[in-house]
Amino acid sequence: MTQDDQHTRGIAILGSTGSIGTQALEVIREQREHLHVEVLTAHQNAALLIQQSKEFQPNTVVIGDLAKLKEVKDALFDDGIKVYGGAEALEQVVEMEGIDMVLTALVGAAGLRPTLRAIRAGKPIALANKETLVVAGALVMAEARAAGVDIHPVDSEHSAIYQCLAGELLNPIEKIILTASGGPFRGKSRAELLNVTKAQALQHPNWSMGAKITIDSASMMNKGLEVIEAKWLFDLKMEQVEVVVHPQSIIHSCVQFQDGSIKAQMGLPDMKLPILYALGYPRRLANDLERFDFLNYPHLTFEKPDMDAFRNLALAFEVGHKGGNAPAILNAANEVAVARFLADEITFIQLTNVVEHALQNVDWVSNPNLDSLVQSDEEARIKAGEFRS
Ligand code: NAD
Ligand code: MG
Repeated sequence: MTQDDQHTRGIAILGSTGSIGTQALEVIREQREHLHVEVLTAHQNAALLIQQSKEFQPNTVVIGDLAKLKEVKDALFDDGIKVYGGAEALEQVVEMEGIDMVLTALVGAAGLRPTLRAIRAGKPIALANKETLVVAGALVMAEARAAGVDIHPVDSEHSAIYQCLAGELLNPIEKIILTASGGPFRGKSRAELLNVTKAQALQHPNWSMGAKITIDSASMMNKGLEVIEAKWLFDLKMEQVEVVVHPQSIIHSCVQFQDGSIKAQMGLPDMKLPILYALGYPRRLANDLERFDFLNYPHLTFEKPDMDAFRNLALAFEVGHKGGNAPAILNAANEVAVARFLADEITFIQLTNVVEHALQNVDWVSNPNLDSLVQSDEEARIKAGEFRS
């Protein structure tokens, strides 16, 4: 987007009814001279998808759940909006001509195929869907490089690093420091974690997010997924990724360069800022979001993550080192574990046991292709479903 560009950027939002999707629409509503909605997609929430479509008048919408297709079609008929349904339509829609950028705001490994299709169609990606990079980071980044497609991170930590790297093209990274809020259970021992409840796990201190990532934040799996996400996004070795707990979530992450200098990106914890940076890239778009004031935060504090209590983080580092299909197994098993925890089938502490069970029972493949990753994902889901305490 250049200064004299008359064209507003056409955005496709995959997962428009979720936490990131709805915040992206709030951002676009305030940035109409720069951004417009070309495509919206949702999995099941037909009512919200219809409401969003009536307001933003996209060219096309996709509802994942075919049982809701007629309802959405009927509701949007008079608006002349094209409506499709099902997973295949979700993959195809990203190729549409009017799309200038695809925001992947859907949750889980379901993001992998549409992201790959968008990359192959040459569409820049604003990537919120971290699971896609955890499952298939090597493949996705290789395809993006081959297609000359930029991936702009939306995850706040990765957006921070991305922002710190602006203008540093020739300067090698010594390491990155990913900050973590520590979630609702920061400071709890392993014994104390035995008794925590679902309601407590769903209460994040700093961020309001979808259910899956909220549980991942409580279990520190979110930080584990982000470590692997960062490795792929910024072409790092696992040894170059460090995690520091920072409960105030003001420093969103840092880069340390080879001269020892550290750059950090700061701001209030509000996902609209990283969403805006990705959608407007390389421009910083003016906005009315609340500004950070140092005087309101006289104490920014830092702690070492407790990987004995929060074993998910240690597991993610191990799996990141191991590579191959191991991260895909970890991710799939974790998706099932979170769903089972939310369905009251397992306890909080067992989230890790489910993932370990899958890692132990699905064969490791050192250099998997897409089919092999999909197969590992399916096998891991079965093993994770079979786990009994
Ligand atoms: P959410 O659960 O609130 O929303 C998920 C969206 O994806 C919904 O629109 C839903 O309809 C759609 N969806 C769900 N399953 C689908 C499927 N199988 N196929 C197609 N669409 C499907 O999730 P969220 O919190 O907005 O998170 C979205 C992604 O962004 C996740 O990968 C998450 O890790 C990442 N992320 C979220 C936040 C946040 O603040 N919420 C921050 C950083 C990263
Ligand atoms: Mg994050």
